[in-house]
Amino acid sequence: MSSAASLPQDFLALSARLGQDPQQVQGPGGNTSCKLGTAMWIKASGTLLADAGQKPIFMAVDRALARAEAVGAGDGTCMASRLDASNALRPSIETTFHALIDWPVVVHTHSIAALVHGICPEGRLAAQTRLAGLDPVIVPYAKPGLPLTSAIAARPQAGARLWLLQNHGLICAGDDAASVASLLGEVERRLAVPRLDDITGEQPGAAPEGRVWLPGSHGLARDARLCRIIQAGSYYPDHVVFLGPAVPLIAPDCAAPLALVPGQGLALRSDATAAQRAMAQAILDVLTRLPGDWEPEALSPQDEAELLDWDAEKYRQALAARQSGAAQQGR
Ligand SMILES: [Zn+2]
Repeated sequence: MSSAASLPQDFLALSARLGQDPQQVQGPGGNTSCKLGTAMWIKASGTLLADAGQKPIFMAVDRALARAEAVGAGDGTCMASRLDASNALRPSIETTFHALIDWPVVVHTHSIAALVHGICPEGRLAAQTRLAGLDPVIVPYAKPGLPLTSAIAARPQAGARLWLLQNHGLICAGDDAASVASLLGEVERRLAVPRLDDITGEQPGAAPEGRVWLPGSHGLARDARLCRIIQAGSYYPDHVVFLGPAVPLIAPDCAAPLALVPGQGLALRSDATAAQRAMAQAILDVLTRLPGDWEPEALSPQDEAELLDWDAEKYRQALAARQSGAAQQGR
């Protein structure tokens, strides 16, 4: 079996570079893999791509076994495909699509530009034009893990190297890290969207008790359309996983990590984790790049509940609590 030491330096460098760029990957999101012989090295769940080359974030799975899990064998976690069963880490929940895609190097990002396009019907149409010649496969939203892998498998396209995942992100694949980096760079150039004019000037008042202003969020809070959109729902999985559904209006008993104070800003709990801060920045980065005539589609309440592993009743109660918080704020 190959060892982690045999992972190509340029693969580790690309992984670290993507992990350190919040326009590509936020917090523990995103993952990369490299197939060497019969092994596939994949980022372990909960580790940071930014640490590639510095910490042992990659673990090996049996390439053939993982591929079999991608198409229905086993439980899809790839725990049984680990080559070193004494490794306490779990393979990324997205391991099966890395195994399904038959290129040696596979990179999955939550690129801000790809999210801006992938959450809007207008954006997905625009992406097909902007990515002409790169033959992107557009994949409908599915829960990360086996459901997403199945959605990718249902759209086989010979030689495909690029997938735009609706309400989720991007996958790029190729023979080696250099060719994947080159494709990713081309995609980012074509999908680049300018940030809307930032409304600076007037400083907001003090942040609500126990919270700090998310830097740069005051313009969004003064934009009625973006205030509506940010409260209307969640647009991609990691937002739900780390910040909970949507972004609620601030209320006296609001426990949400991130809350909207209309006219002032997004207020982040002072005890927010690094991952929550990264996701707060991500929603700001996405929504402040949304063209005025694009209307994002939120994940369904069912999608949100599945991401939180909540049963329907617990979720219904949480939604009701959220609505009563909003009603209080409205009084
Ligand atoms: Zn993902």
